[in-house]
Amino acid sequence: MIEKTDTLLHKGLRKKLVETLRKKGISSEAVLQAIEIVPRHFFVPFGIENMAYLDQALPIDEGQTISQPYTVAFQTQLLDVQRGMKVLEIGTGSGYQAAILCQMGAKVFSVERIYKLHKNAQYILNTLGYKCQLFLGDGYAGKEAYAPYHRIIVTCAAADIPENLLKQLAPNGKMVIPVGIQTQEMLLITKNDENQIEVSKHGYFSFVPFVKGS
Ligand code: SAH
Repeated sequence: MIEKTDTLLHKGLRKKLVETLRKKGISSEAVLQAIEIVPRHFFVPFGIENMAYLDQALPIDEGQTISQPYTVAFQTQLLDVQRGMKVLEIGTGSGYQAAILCQMGAKVFSVERIYKLHKNAQYILNTLGYKCQLFLGDGYAGKEAYAPYHRIIVTCAAADIPENLLKQLAPNGKMVIPVGIQTQEMLLITKNDENQIEVSKHGYFSFVPFVKGS
C-alpha cells in the first residue's frame, strides 16, 4: 500500500477547516483542536484526498460515507467527552470519528458491520498510532463485554433508540444518536444517577442507515 503523508499544505487546510467550523457555531476548543490535529485525508479514499478538508461528507467503500466535518464536530461537542472516558461508537466507517475521540483522550470502542471498512479503519488508526478497540459486529447489540460506557455515539441513522445501547450507558452517561427515516433528528440522551432518561433535540442531519444484523 502507498503510504500517505501529512504535509504543511494539509496542516494549513485543517486550520482553515477549523475556522469554517468555528463560523458555523462549533465552540468546543477540545473538539476544534482534535480536528486540527487528525489528518482527515488519511481516512478518505485515494483519488479524492484533495477534497478531505472541504466541509463535506465523502464516499468511502461499500456505499458508505465519512461524515461531514461539521457533523463530526457537532456530535462530538454534544457528546461532551472528557479525557479517560469510555466511549462506544456505532458505525466505525472510515475510522475518522474514532480518531477524533482518541485524540481527545477517550478510550474508544467502535463497532462496524462491514468487514472491509473495519479492516481498513484498523489499518489507518494503527498507522497513526491511535489505540482504539475496533469490533466487527452488529451495533444494535452494542458491545456488552466492555459496558458500561460514559458516552455512546451513533454515526448511522437509527429508526429508534436501541434498547441494548441504553442498557450499556453508565449512570450520568450521555448518548448522541441521529434518529429518523428520511432525515434524522440529532438526539442527546442523558441518564441520571437513578437511570432515568431525558431526551433533548438538536436539529436535523442526514446519515447512512443503521442496518440491522452484521
Ligand atoms: N463514523 C464514521 C461514519 C461512517 S458512516 C466515520 O467517521 O467515517 C456509518 C457506518 O455505520 C457505516 O460504515 C455503516 O456500515 C455502519 N453501520 C450501519 N449499520 C450498522 C450496524 N448495525 N452495526 C455496525 N455498524 C453499522
